Amino acid sequence: MRQLFNSAIIKLTLAYTAILLLVSLIFSISFYQVSIRELDANFNAQTQRIEGRPGLFQNIEDRVSFLHERRQELAESKDKLWGRLVLVNLLMLFGSSLLSYYLAKRTLQPIEQAHDAQSRFTADASHELRTPLASMRAEIEVLLRSKKISKADYQQLLSSNLEELHKLTGLSDALLKLARRDEGVQESFSSINLGVLITSIKKTLSATIKDKKIHFDAKIPKNYHVSGDPQAVKEMLLILVENALKYTPSKGKVNVTARKRGRNIVVEVADTGIGIEASKLPHIFERFYRADSSRGSSKNGYGLGLAIASQIAQMHEAQISVASKVGKGTTFKVVFCKTSFKKK
Ligand code: ADP
Repeated sequence: MRQLFNSAIIKLTLAYTAILLLVSLIFSISFYQVSIRELDANFNAQTQRIEGRPGLFQNIEDRVSFLHERRQELAESKDKLWGRLVLVNLLMLFGSSLLSYYLAKRTLQPIEQAHDAQSRFTADASHELRTPLASMRAEIEVLLRSKKISKADYQQLLSSNLEELHKLTGLSDALLKLARRDEGVQESFSSINLGVLITSIKKTLSATIKDKKIHFDAKIPKNYHVSGDPQAVKEMLLILVENALKYTPSKGKVNVTARKRGRNIVVEVADTGIGIEASKLPHIFERFYRADSSRGSSKNGYGLGLAIASQIAQMHEAQISVASKVGKGTTFKVVFCKTSFKKK
């Protein structure tokens, strides 16, 4: 693939150079023709002036030699002009090659970056798929090798494999969602009441809130609406609230608020959890990035939640950002610009 990029850069460089050189040649030829015409016209005017004043030279030889000198000067000027234009075009060839190479690299850079990201994504996805599969395989092999297998052993194997299968299903669902949205699948937009949405998220997560004894508070004015795909917006906020609950120790606090800023609505999901190191914050929305874990740790997911959230935000022209302090907590902010504040 790298070779393909290099050859694309060379091809594009040659194409750009050819275009720039063609422009320069057309300009040079036109300039040369106009200049030659000027020089000839000048010479003819001088000749006519001399012929109109026969007393200007003492004898005919002087006149002939004067005209001969002028003609020579004219030929030299033409040669000089030609030489300079050739030199200018050679310099142009050198300069335009460098410029073309730079332009070609810049043109192909986004494609190269997208390709690199895609390769990284494929490698990460394969790794994540292999890990649970390898662990399932190892467990099955160990059990098959043992001489005496009890019913309890089978049950343990099946429940462990089932857990891995759940994880794999979750992973493939997340990958599918990302891929479908990358493809630009059109989702149907409508007006979403944020208050109603947060209430339903709270209901979905009520068991976790209760289990962890989290103090959950949601303050959303009743008339706050955003335009978007209801399922996708719910998914985005669900990811943020789920993370807040996941990374907040029991008896901690999670607050969801919404406020108006001009025509925008700013939704904040704040927790009093473990926080994220400053050096890791810039990567938090990258696919498969996990701030605090070795791969496969049971507490963490696959590092795809925030990537999906950010993709959904982008789809809705909303801005998503994060601020965090280790040991104090994290606040995710989503700024929606497609909003309305109707009463109902
Ligand atoms: P995961 O499924 O691993 O939670 P996410 O993409 O949702 O993946 O989050 C990426 C990483 O960001 C997490 O692994 C975690 O380290 C960090 N993170 C996300 N939300 C929070 C939060 N509210 N508090 C602390 N860390 C968080």
